[in-house]
Amino acid sequence: MLFENLINNEMACKCGVNHSISIKEIIIGKGAINKLEMVISKLGFTDNFHIVADANTYKVAANQVERKFLERSYNFTSTVFEKKDLIADESALTRLLNEIDDETSCIIAVGSGTINDLSRYAAFKLNKPYLIIATAPSMDGYASSVSPLIINGFKRTYSAIAPIAIIGDTDILKNAPYEMITAGFGDMLGKYISLSDWKLGYYICNEYYCEAIVSIVEKALKLCIDQIEGLKRREDDAIENLMNGLVLSGLAMLMAGNSRPASGSEHHLAHFWEMRFISEGKKQILHGHKVGVASVLMAKRYNFLSMLDKIDVINYLSQATTVSEDDTKARIKEVYGSIANEVIQENAYMDYVKEINRKIVEEWASIKEIADKAPLSNVLKSILEAVEAPSSPEDINISGLLVDEGSKNCMYARNRYTVLRLFDQLGLIDFEC
Ligand SMILES: [Zn+2]
Ligand SMILES: [Zn+2]
Repeated sequence: MLFENLINNEMACKCGVNHSISIKEIIIGKGAINKLEMVISKLGFTDNFHIVADANTYKVAANQVERKFLERSYNFTSTVFEKKDLIADESALTRLLNEIDDETSCIIAVGSGTINDLSRYAAFKLNKPYLIIATAPSMDGYASSVSPLIINGFKRTYSAIAPIAIIGDTDILKNAPYEMITAGFGDMLGKYISLSDWKLGYYICNEYYCEAIVSIVEKALKLCIDQIEGLKRREDDAIENLMNGLVLSGLAMLMAGNSRPASGSEHHLAHFWEMRFISEGKKQILHGHKVGVASVLMAKRYNFLSMLDKIDVINYLSQATTVSEDDTKARIKEVYGSIANEVIQENAYMDYVKEINRKIVEEWASIKEIADKAPLSNVLKSILEAVEAPSSPEDINISGLLVDEGSKNCMYARNRYTVLRLFDQLGLIDFEC
């Protein structure tokens, strides 16, 4: 019921856009994997599948799929990534693209974040449909149509396609490592910040904004926030609702045509940390854990804004020094090293600073309202603690220095207005948490 009005449907929306979602089936619940054959036949596929998994997801679900396909005498091929800490980079992608043959009618991805990112991009490149069998409620990208890939050490979001179907079997999802469950929860908690950042963009940069999409993300967030006790006990309902929330959040991104509703400064900071960990060869931290921690830090900034009056803002703006384009580029080169040119291309300099400053003052009442509505950072922290998710940078081995460096520079990686850009303009980028 949750998804029926959204999928397979084109909605003429008040925002002026006709939102359409190309996903044809979403089945989440107990025993959902048993409906795979029904789904593929409903979608018109009869033979020739390519299964994508890693060593873990092969054990928990892909081997069941292979067994069923053998019983049915379906032809299929498989890619099983054996490597631990698989990342969606050039080498994994090249292997996958080589192993999917021309005959494949549908790619069946079995996994969570990385497997989904790789399969979605491969499906797009090869112009083939794909469906996902989720193995952990660990992130909100199941319904997404874009793939974050690490190419040349730089994490960027590439165009891809949405899955044709999503299957989330709670019997599988609830047995995912508990840290993956809390990661999904952390990713959802980030929506408090991403929605606030989007609204900032709307008021300050006249950015496109859609209330219907916002309310879907809010609904998704509520579904998850209500599950704290049940998640700890891995209850079916709690896991199902978390997964529903994560998929809904993905649908909201599809409706918006980009990740704006579900990814703001908290994601930019998390991505900055991730890239730094990759370049230093450190073991990766789950995406949702970084997002959860970064959300606490971003909430602190909103809480600070909430204390400012228009007169304070005018004072801050008048004292802030405008950094020249050359200085901005020099700073990006210093921080981003070999990938600096890509970052500069993405967004080197906002040359409409004066106009934005005017809007900040003009719209202060609305901006303050956004800040007033943002959750208190210590409340977010205690919600994370309640599910036993990491809640501070130390919990995930992020040093104070990296928090500081990321907070000052992560905004450059994406041309998107956020609370960090606002802090930069107010001369508060050195804000200490
Ligand atoms: Zn709309
Ligand atoms: Zn995320």
